[in-house]
Amino acid sequence: MASAPRPIVCAGNPVLRARAAEVPASDFGTRALEALVVEMVQAMRKAPGVGLAAPQLGVPLRVFVMEDGKHLMRALAPEGVAARRRVPFPLTAVVNPVLTPIERGGTEPSEVFLEGCLSVPGYVGLVARHLAVELRGFTPFGDPVALELKGWPARIAQHEYDHLEGTLYVDRVLTRSLSTNEEAKARWLSASTDDIRRGLGV
Ligand code: ZN
Repeated sequence: MASAPRPIVCAGNPVLRARAAEVPASDFGTRALEALVVEMVQAMRKAPGVGLAAPQLGVPLRVFVMEDGKHLMRALAPEGVAARRRVPFPLTAVVNPVLTPIERGGTEPSEVFLEGCLSVPGYVGLVARHLAVELRGFTPFGDPVALELKGWPARIAQHEYDHLEGTLYVDRVLTRSLSTNEEAKARWLSASTDDIRRGLGV
């Protein structure tokens, strides 16, 4: 009998604050690793979310999945989708990722938008992220992954990579921007980042 799916663990659980361990090369292509990734994809889609890291299922391994689609962007106006450079992104699973920011004209993250986390339910807040990153790692079968990501996919990768380092978005959030989902939906989802900054005194 299949065991019940693991729930998404929330802030306060030490697994979200530890550095996750590398997946040993001997685990590539195993049914155990494949099963973990399948479970992560199911949990991400059910939530629904655009990314999930293994520690969010209580598994302290360096694995994350990400995926974005038009059906997940419905709450945003077209201008909001465009401003975020949010584009459909095919399902991608990365094991032992290495993330390198690609910033022209400075090393500070420059893109500031509202962000949330399935492990910190109920809230969103403004977080600065790099516009572009290089993502390297392996598929669950051990094949190399090398992607250049921009805009929202780059943000997702940075957020999920942070999970593997024991970092949550609330460690990076502009604290005065923190909004409940209800307030964000009513006031800020269609607003520009400048409007949010003005409205909340960020
Ligand atoms: Zn998260």
